[in-house]
Amino acid sequence: MRAQVLLFPTITAYGRLYCAPRRLHRYNSSSSPFLNLSLSRFSGGLFFHMEQFQSGTSSSGKKSMVENLKRYGVISSKRVAQVMEALDRGLFVPVGSSAYVDTPLPIGYNATISAPHMHATCLQLLEDKLKPGMRALDVGSGTGYLTGCFALMVGAEGRVVGVDHIPELVDMSIKNIEKSVAASLLKKGSLSLHVGDGRKGWQEFAPYDAIHVGAAASEIPQPLLDQLKPGGRMVIPLGTYFQELKVIDKNKDGSIKVHTETSVRYVPLTSRDEQLGGF
Ligand code: SAH
Repeated sequence: MRAQVLLFPTITAYGRLYCAPRRLHRYNSSSSPFLNLSLSRFSGGLFFHMEQFQSGTSSSGKKSMVENLKRYGVISSKRVAQVMEALDRGLFVPVGSSAYVDTPLPIGYNATISAPHMHATCLQLLEDKLKPGMRALDVGSGTGYLTGCFALMVGAEGRVVGVDHIPELVDMSIKNIEKSVAASLLKKGSLSLHVGDGRKGWQEFAPYDAIHVGAAASEIPQPLLDQLKPGGRMVIPLGTYFQELKVIDKNKDGSIKVHTETSVRYVPLTSRDEQLGGF
């Protein structure tokens, strides 16, 4: 089936704001006409269309998704491009959704899989802390897509932990990974996915070179700062309605340096009850 892929010519100005718009949660993931419509309205019509395969998995779909992210300067690293091309987003999105469109998609439980440009942005920011043998923690691992990318980057000698507080999402993420090129890393144990409150981090494999938080916190959870290795980096969206993607570097002496990368819109980092109750 043919469909259209949307990309924003001004991706930093518009695209990053739409990593997880909450209004999309209420809609079925197969409602791509709605997504096209709403994105069109949000972006003031400043997007263009490219032909692409719509649902299921498609190697040409992955390839052009990555090519477009490269063209708009979201991906500049060869490793990030290779990993996003190797791990098929089509295996991680709900059946029937447009896997390679640059938009977040609802995954149930009031959560979304982030848009490809957000995954790419976070991989770029963390690339130096995702070298073979390094350790990474993915808080709010959801579908497991980004967790799987981390695992491919650090390889069998590294250690990647994904934590989500919705057991059904953790089960789903394990099934997704099992179908993917990261399956052997899960089997060998260098990648694991757990149910837990990610605000507490995951002490077992700390300290981490890289910590990614996939949901917006009102403040940086202290356990995550504690579990960040000196020399390590954390990427975390901070804020409630207005949110910014913060990059936190822990210096070798333990001091912290923070900079703001961009404006974003993520679902909240919260309690399970609040999330299931619709915030
Ligand atoms: N990065 C993932 C999911 C992003 S949605 C992806 O792209 O697939 C944010 C995720 O954070 C959801 O899966 C939600 O269940 C999870 N979450 C929110 N608060 C949490 C908490 N306190 N602990 C663990 N996971 C949390």
